Amino acid sequence: MSNLDTNVYICGPTGAKKYHFTNSCRGLSNCKHELKKVSLKQAHDYGLTLCGWED
Ligand SMILES: [Zn+2]
Repeated sequence: MSNLDTNVYICGPTGAKKYHFTNSCRGLSNCKHELKKVSLKQAHDYGLTLCGWED
C-alpha cells in the first residue's frame, strides 16, 4: 500500500492537496479538473496527503 510505484489519482496537474487510490473516490467527485494518474512518489513530491475518505 505504501509502495512508491503505486499509481494514485490526483485532481489537476498537481493534485491540489490530496491524492486518491481509486478514481471513483467520493473525494474526487467535485474535482473540476482533469484526473491525472501519477506514482505515489510523485504525489509525495507534490506535497500531497492521502484523501480523508481513504486509508
Ligand atoms: Zn480519495
